[in-house]
Amino acid sequence: MRLKDKVAIVTGGAHGIGRAISEIFAEEGAAVFIADLDANAGEALAAELRHKGHEATLLRADVSAATDVTQVVERAAQKNGRIDVLCNNAAYIGQWHNSVEATEEEWQKCLSVTLLGTQYFTKEVLQYMVRQKQGSIINISSIQGMVGGRNSAAYTTVKSGLLGFTRSVDYDFGPDNIRVNAICPGAITTRISPQPGTELYQRQISKTFLGRVGKPREVAQAALFLASDESSYITGAVLPVDGGWTAM
Ligand code: NAP
Repeated sequence: MRLKDKVAIVTGGAHGIGRAISEIFAEEGAAVFIADLDANAGEALAAELRHKGHEATLLRADVSAATDVTQVVERAAQKNGRIDVLCNNAAYIGQWHNSVEATEEEWQKCLSVTLLGTQYFTKEVLQYMVRQKQGSIINISSIQGMVGGRNSAAYTTVKSGLLGFTRSVDYDFGPDNIRVNAICPGAITTRISPQPGTELYQRQISKTFLGRVGKPREVAQAALFLASDESSYITGAVLPVDGGWTAM
């Protein structure tokens, strides 16, 4: 029980990688607050986790709405006056264009959901973490934050921005014993992934040493390590979970 008695918030925790992170945090003893747009899927997951004896609550929220974020953090803090872990996982994953083709809407969504959503949550939880002199923040970036990706000018830009944000918050709040790390998933099977047999799927596999795509649970295991006290001297790290993609 590596997160026993800890309070954790997972944004975009109803589906995919966020879902796997919510599950593993709950299994390891945390009281998990799932902040997601999709209230039905989020509540179904929370109910499933409670049924298994874990502690999980869905709080419907749009991470790009600062008022929603304040409410989520206040509600989670009511549990026992603390926020121990924040995983900023929600992102806008809607459109894929190069710089010439990317629309204003695509840019605005990437900036407001992926980047500002992370800022809003971080700012709110820091009030608690600074007071308690302890906290772990995990930002889910992407290998596209580390290397280029085709037809994804806005997405790649904000995922790179998340790495700068991670290090900046680290610098400012390390003295308060707050650790901030980033995970960069490679090709992970979720509902947004290319289907097996397609050209894109084959291309993704060929980019890995391991010759396969990853599972959401494999990202969640990295998040668990960074959330737990086992990583007590790790901060400012950028951890690829990518089957070797960025090492190739
Ligand atoms: P996903 O299955 O689409 O899950 C994303 C979750 O975030 C969904 O539950 C979604 O809710 C929620 N969400 C989106 N916008 C939101 C908002 N404004 N407020 C609150 N919740 C919101 O995606 P995923 O593949 O698991 O990706 C999770 C993270 O991993 C993202 O940061 C993504 O960039 C990163 N990543 C994924 C991969 C990959 O191969 N899958 C690779 C690299 C990085 P709705 O269902 O209502 O949209």
